[in-house]
Amino acid sequence: MSQSPLLDELIEAFTCLPGVGPKSAQRMAYHILEREREGGRLLAARLQQAIEQIGHCQRCRTLTEQDICGICLSPKRDGHVLCVVETPVDVNVLEQATDFQGLYYVLMGKLSPLDGIGPRELGLDKLKARFAEGEIKELILATNPTVEGEATAYYISEMAREWGIAVTRIAHGVPLGGELEYIDGGTLLHAFSERKPLV
Ligand code: ZN
Repeated sequence: MSQSPLLDELIEAFTCLPGVGPKSAQRMAYHILEREREGGRLLAARLQQAIEQIGHCQRCRTLTEQDICGICLSPKRDGHVLCVVETPVDVNVLEQATDFQGLYYVLMGKLSPLDGIGPRELGLDKLKARFAEGEIKELILATNPTVEGEATAYYISEMAREWGIAVTRIAHGVPLGGELEYIDGGTLLHAFSERKPLV
C-alpha cells in the first residue's frame, strides 16, 4: 500500500491490461506520476476518446468510428471474396502481411458453447444475410487453429455450402525458418496431413 489511495487505485486499474500484473502496474503508475505526466494525460485522453467513439462496422463488425469501415467502403476491394476472422486485430495482421484484396467479416470471438457463445453471438445471422445477397463467391476461413477455431470454421463452411459458395481454410503448419525437430506434435501432424502437391 502507498500513502495515496488514488495511486493504489491507479495501480489496480492498470492490471486490466493483458500481461500486466501488480508489479508492472506499479511500475507504470509510478513512472507516469514521476516522469511522464504529459504522456499520461495524452494516454488518458486517447483512451477516453477511443472508448467513446470507436464502435463496430455495420457491415464487417471490425472496429471503426464510422458506420461502415474504410475497407468495406473501398471500391478497389473485391466483393466476391470474403475472409472470416475472429477478431479486429486479425484484419490488421492480414492487411499488413498479405496482399488480400477482398473483404472481411469479423466474428468477435469463436463458437464456445460452454461460455455461452453460439452462432447468434458471432453475428452468423448477419453473415448468412451476406451470403443471401449473392455477391460472395469465395469464403476464406481464417479463424485460429484452436479446437474452437476449427469448430467455428467447420460450422461456417457448412453454412456457406448451402449457398454454393467455395470455401477455403488457411493452412497451418511449419513456420518459415522453423526446424521440424522443434515443432510441437499437433502442428506437425496438421502440416503433414494438409500437405500440398509441389508445383
Ligand atoms: Zn467494414
